[in-house]
Amino acid sequence: MSGGVAALARPDIRELAAYVPASYRDGLVRLNANEAPWQSSADATERGLNRYPEARPGRLTETLAAHYGVPTDSLFVTRGTSEAIDLLIRCFCRPGQDEIVICPPTFGMYEVYAQIQGAPIREVPLDVNAGFALRVDAILEAWTEATRLVFVTTPNNPTGNAFEPGVIESLARGLDGRGLVVVDGAYLEFADTDAIMALRAYDNVVVLRTMSKAYGLAGARCGALIADPEVVGLVEKVMPPYAVPTPSVECALAALAEEQFEVMPERIESLVAERQRVAVALETMPAVRRIWPSDANFLLVQFGDPAAVLAAAEDAGLLLRDFSRGAATADCLRVTIGTREQNDTLLAALTRLDA
Ligand code: PMP
Repeated sequence: MSGGVAALARPDIRELAAYVPASYRDGLVRLNANEAPWQSSADATERGLNRYPEARPGRLTETLAAHYGVPTDSLFVTRGTSEAIDLLIRCFCRPGQDEIVICPPTFGMYEVYAQIQGAPIREVPLDVNAGFALRVDAILEAWTEATRLVFVTTPNNPTGNAFEPGVIESLARGLDGRGLVVVDGAYLEFADTDAIMALRAYDNVVVLRTMSKAYGLAGARCGALIADPEVVGLVEKVMPPYAVPTPSVECALAALAEEQFEVMPERIESLVAERQRVAVALETMPAVRRIWPSDANFLLVQFGDPAAVLAAAEDAGLLLRDFSRGAATADCLRVTIGTREQNDTLLAALTRLDA
């Protein structure tokens, strides 16, 4: 292995011999994988669920790579972005030794996966007084010989703000040869996608994408890790073979068909319009203290009495996410933008509440 970014990975993973799954070839019957020769009557898939999925979903990898405009060998299909986070931490962090950096308030799974791996966590909080800005200098100062990954979520969850691509670029430059910047772009379709994707020019930048948000396929568990091919080679060794289920692969491919994709800009536009409408309506309500600007499909809102808001929403048949106990998100709830009717139900429930 070269001295590129993969040199930062766990030596035992770099040296690990990958499992070799049973092969298959178009036109040849597989009598090499102990599969059943018959298909279940409950099976509506094209491939047949009696067959294992491909060890790696080849056509989906190619289709997603073309869709995101990246080379096929730099994209790895995962079961949602969540799994990509787990794979990266397992590849780069030796338990009790190699650290990750997170920038709270942010997505909680970075911390959980690091804890499962036994990787120490260094926190460099976002600057709450500057609209939850990324503190690049503080991250660089906090970096040690043992630090491997920093997770940068843009747009960030739960704060909703996207970071300037130039800010992430300066972080990537500052960590050249010393660490990886993992850009979690779960909500990227709602923000400046192209500029973030351009950061791939840096070999220490990994971009995570998902079909769970803008594509409406959270249940299919389909995401992508986009990275230097050597990093792709490492995560590939750690991911079990046959991991992405056939129905998910077929559904994702169907969703990426061009005619399906034509509706996306329109959907995103109407969701963004709804987000704006909800924000404006909330602003006038006595129960609301503050609404943060959002580049995602949700709003972070500070309320006078968040418990009363949660109860009122629940009475109206709606669940909101509670961040009120977070240090930088005191009294805040996260509101996902729904359909116009769902949003109207929420607004009607909250409008009746006092400060
Ligand atoms: N990253 C962020 C920032 C998220 O908010 C989420 C889901 N809430 C995920 C990753 C995980 O998404 P998935 O595994 O469905 O792709």
